[in-house]
Amino acid sequence: MIKTCLVAVDVRHPKAKREYTYLVPEDIASSINIGDLVCVPFNNIKVTGVVTELFNFIEKTTDYELKAVISKEAISLPMELVDLSKSLAEYYGTPIIDFLKLMLPPKVSSKTESVYSVCSTDKVISSRAFNQKRVLEYLKNVETATVHDISENLKMPIASVRSALTALTEKGVIKRDYRVVRRRPMIITTNNIREHINLTIEQQNALTTIIKNFNNSKRTTLIYGVTGSGKTEVYIRAIENVLKAGKKVIMLVPEISLTPQMLSIFRSRFPGKTAVLHSKLSQGERFDEWQRIYSGEALVVLGARSAIFAPIKDLGMIIIDEEHETSYKNGEHPYYDARTVAKFRAKKQNASLVLGSATPSVESFYKAAKQEYSLAKLTKRVSGRSLPKLEIIDMREELKSGNRHIFSRKLLSGMKETLEKHKQIILFLNRRGHSTFVICRDCGFVLKCKYCDIALTYHFEDKSGKCHYCGYSIKAPDICPKCKSRNIRYFGAGTEKVEQEVKRFFPKCRTIRIDSDSTSRKGSLEKMLLNFKKGGAQILIGTQTVAKGLNFPDVALVGIISADTALNMPDFRSGERTFQLITQVAGRSGRGDTPGMVYVQTYTPESFAIRAACNFDISGFYQEELKIRREALYPPFCHMLNIVFKSRYEDLIKKEAEEVRQILYQKYNNDIEIYGPVPAPRSKIKDNYRYNILLKSKQIQTLVNICNHMQILNNNRKVDMSWDMEPLDLL
Ligand code: ADP
Ligand code: ZN
Ligand code: ZN
Repeated sequence: MIKTCLVAVDVRHPKAKREYTYLVPEDIASSINIGDLVCVPFNNIKVTGVVTELFNFIEKTTDYELKAVISKEAISLPMELVDLSKSLAEYYGTPIIDFLKLMLPPKVSSKTESVYSVCSTDKVISSRAFNQKRVLEYLKNVETATVHDISENLKMPIASVRSALTALTEKGVIKRDYRVVRRRPMIITTNNIREHINLTIEQQNALTTIIKNFNNSKRTTLIYGVTGSGKTEVYIRAIENVLKAGKKVIMLVPEISLTPQMLSIFRSRFPGKTAVLHSKLSQGERFDEWQRIYSGEALVVLGARSAIFAPIKDLGMIIIDEEHETSYKNGEHPYYDARTVAKFRAKKQNASLVLGSATPSVESFYKAAKQEYSLAKLTKRVSGRSLPKLEIIDMREELKSGNRHIFSRKLLSGMKETLEKHKQIILFLNRRGHSTFVICRDCGFVLKCKYCDIALTYHFEDKSGKCHYCGYSIKAPDICPKCKSRNIRYFGAGTEKVEQEVKRFFPKCRTIRIDSDSTSRKGSLEKMLLNFKKGGAQILIGTQTVAKGLNFPDVALVGIISADTALNMPDFRSGERTFQLITQVAGRSGRGDTPGMVYVQTYTPESFAIRAACNFDISGFYQEELKIRREALYPPFCHMLNIVFKSRYEDLIKKEAEEVRQILYQKYNNDIEIYGPVPAPRSKIKDNYRYNILLKSKQIQTLVNICNHMQILNNNRKVDMSWDMEPLDLL
């Protein structure tokens, strides 16, 4: 019998699915499996691919001769993941290989190290070879040791150990072997871990719901727990239950480096069984963590977005912490959402899904209200700590009374008081840099990027104007390039400016600034957070990173410098984002024994989202927001698909986008609403014009069909097209 297989190949080729049939040569016919990584010929070159189907005979449908698989590699993906990729490829209208690639380990190999052991004891070592004697004595007492083990235990310099080992090896007294070492991701961990915690009644109830769903219906559980209500402990207990049942767990967090404490807890509760996967791992580290998961050594995978593709076979549960976070969505091709992937994966592997947040997404909240999800509430902070007090500060009033500073009088006096009490402060502002734009007071000229339709942000540190979209940077001008006036001014404060202002008001105060400018080096974010926790600074200034799940017991005051930055985004989710940001940032306050205070500065104090957040009126907020979404037809009352066109030529983009609109209109008009083509809110980035066509439909299947239709339309287009299913960002 002749076998053939379907292989998804890793090549850029216009053909839609990029899967091709190959003959299976006899020598591997009995061992080949779906999921195997193979090497195949493709247009006279060798490429790698993944086997997605196997057939026992050839259907004589083709006239040309089939080529044969060249070889099989040592790596194979679990069948479940190939199956998942197929569904995702279909759902997103994306070639299957793009998902398979996210599941494969990087192309590096295992790392080995030399170990030494005694092999003969009948040779006499001269008593003058003092180091050799010591090393030999040491090796006699242990089975094997590395150079570093020996150096450390004997307190002997590495160089001396090496020369002793070489001499001993030459004499045939000891031998050298190689062993595989796993690269353990270095993540700073903290150690104040409490081992025995008695669950509160609310925590116990949440756990019971999760376990019930795990054992029976596999229904999704949504844990809505206020900040500091002890969600982590509930997750841990749930995981213990899943492991006891012989199953494994994936736990997603928005960003690992922000939760060093989470990792310490996991490593201490599940010693040797936790693996981490996230984008900041080196290739080698990722390879080794992948192997630990694949071999079954790791039972719990903790990671960011991409960890949803971890090669786990007996999956029992997927937990998504801070489920409202936008970082679960991949912002580029392939545009997947880890939460959607999790739903597919849980269903396929019969695992149960747990979502947790203090500010669930409107979509999840709605599903819980419709009882599609089980809802478990944690309404109180643990050990009787109260939620912080939030106060809105109307910045228009500050202006009227002559205060032009970025700090209101209340925030300033609050900061002073907190510093006197030796407590800590977090200042939050969703913009980095010094000033968000540079303008000429005389002619109105605004400094813009050469390549994007975006104002440059002024950075004080190197006195430059920088584009936050393409990285373009120039020296900030002293004279207006247009009218030669010297009346150049900077407006719109960013985190750098906040730091300067703090230094001006409190010259002796130590500060830490956290934004993507200050934390670009690997590990620097973790170090800064640890330093703050240890009291190395009194004030932490930061962008949205500081809103995500940090736990600093000494923080007694939080200042939100401007609650309006998220609110003014041209996006139907801006209200939701604002509500979530305020609630989450405020949640960093008062987590220890000191009650917390939060000042929320705004120019729009009447905003519903801001008021609801400050009153902890979560159900009021969701009711109002759902009403608006229902009336204006936005998710969760419809599904959306955003088609993005990019080109250096605006005429071309207009023409092609209009053609696509026509085609979609003719074929799908009954089921969809079409908006556009219109220039995207950020209409030009990196010299590319951008146009959007936004589609809304009540039928997800219609949008899925359109995604697949787009793959075909994409074949002979001159402009770059991409399609973003359920987009989170229309900018
Ligand atoms: P959340 O994620 O809900 O904001 P955390 O899980 O960070 O809250 O918990 C906040 C703190 O409360 C942690 O330091 C945790 O160790 C502690 N904690 C959790 N559950 C209990 C409990 N039942 N009793 C005492 N302390 C607890
Ligand atoms: Zn000017
Ligand atoms: Zn730019």
